[in-house]
Amino acid sequence: MKFGGTSVATPQRLRAVAARLIARHDAGDEVVAVVSAMGKVTDDLLALAHEINPEPPEREQDMLLATGEQVSIALLAMAVQAAGADAISFTGPQVGIVTDAVHSKAKIVAIDAACVGEALAAGQIVIVAGFQGRTTDGEITTLGRGGSDTTAVALAAGIAADVCEIYTDVDGVYTADPRIVPAAQKIDVISYEPMLEMAASGAGVLSMRSVEFARNHAVTIHCRSSFTDTTGTIVKEAQPDMEDAIVSAVTHDRGEAKITIRGVPDRVGIAARVFSTLADANVNVDMIIQNISEEKKTDISFTAPQTDLHRVTQALDACMAEIGAREWVIDDDIAKVSIVGAGMKTHAGVTAKMFQTLADAGVNIDLISTSPIRLSCIIAADQMDDAVRALHTAFGLDATDVIEEATPC
Ligand code: ADP
Ligand code: ASP
Ligand code: MG
Repeated sequence: MKFGGTSVATPQRLRAVAARLIARHDAGDEVVAVVSAMGKVTDDLLALAHEINPEPPEREQDMLLATGEQVSIALLAMAVQAAGADAISFTGPQVGIVTDAVHSKAKIVAIDAACVGEALAAGQIVIVAGFQGRTTDGEITTLGRGGSDTTAVALAAGIAADVCEIYTDVDGVYTADPRIVPAAQKIDVISYEPMLEMAASGAGVLSMRSVEFARNHAVTIHCRSSFTDTTGTIVKEAQPDMEDAIVSAVTHDRGEAKITIRGVPDRVGIAARVFSTLADANVNVDMIIQNISEEKKTDISFTAPQTDLHRVTQALDACMAEIGAREWVIDDDIAKVSIVGAGMKTHAGVTAKMFQTLADAGVNIDLISTSPIRLSCIIAADQMDDAVRALHTAFGLDATDVIEEATPC
């Protein structure tokens, strides 16, 4: 049972989570909880780090951010104990979450959950800090924003749990972010592939790594509300009777930037040089477009997370002179809107409909990328919300009778 930041934001909410854990334990289940830092603590710690040092060294930043989750686990264990049940808290390193050494977005490479098994056998509720691990050298690492989901799924796989329940501040995975599209509908069941594409293209309700991990280890995820008992969204292996919606969701991502390298010599090996330098700097490049060359010079544009921009600039500075390009420019006033659907690969006309819908909404498309079950367009950031709503309507995803509610807290 994983609880996100909003779900553990106050002492009152921590008590409510404790009550949920105890109820499940009393019902006869063995319970492992994974928790995030309280409320906006991770954001606050990041802001503090940047106030002290505009480019915080990533090792120290991980050391700092990992404290957020450690506060939550200790308080939650105390809340369970105050309610008369037995609980024990563990940090990520304590439960043997071993990662690679890429600070700030480390990947889990192994889990030795022996101490979890021992505590469960002793009848304790086990509470684990999300988002953190350690390298084989004992260095503290964090798993990237939203990484507590990954901890939860990885632990669920490590202890062969029946299900990994991800409790959050919405009722489940919706056809679009319900904060932007009031007419969005909860999806009851979705298979790993479309969920992975949704998470990868911005549906932050589940982190991409967690879905990837779930798919690779066949972990069933139940994404649900921590404020109600309503059934949420089940993410699992595709079943023969599961319907493949042509478009199951519209997603958005405001967290990327577009980088354009101008006047790049159109020669064999140049793209390889640029992108291997970026890969060596651990930049997650997303879309890439290279224009037709004129007089043996071309422009290359690509997108990358805004959080990777300092690595991008360092990497480009390092190879600009060698590749002989004129300059590079960054535009971070962009957004990515995507449509995702497993049925898309067998249906014609989806691309045309997406482009026409954006045109009708007066939205100019800058870059385009596709996968067999996703279509993404880069557009101006200030048109993102309208574009998402227009696509949601055009692909028939709007709920027919929407009751407008206050934004969930
Ligand atoms: P937590 O702190 O519990 O991990 P997150 O903020 O990471 O919660 O994720 C929940 C948020 O994800 C919701 O509040 C919602 O605004 C956002 N979200 C984005 N896309 C979707 C979607 N398709 N379905 C549901 N929620 C979404
Ligand atoms: N606290 C971390 C974050 O805010 C991890 C998480 O909540 O999943 O990104
Ligand atoms: Mg999250």
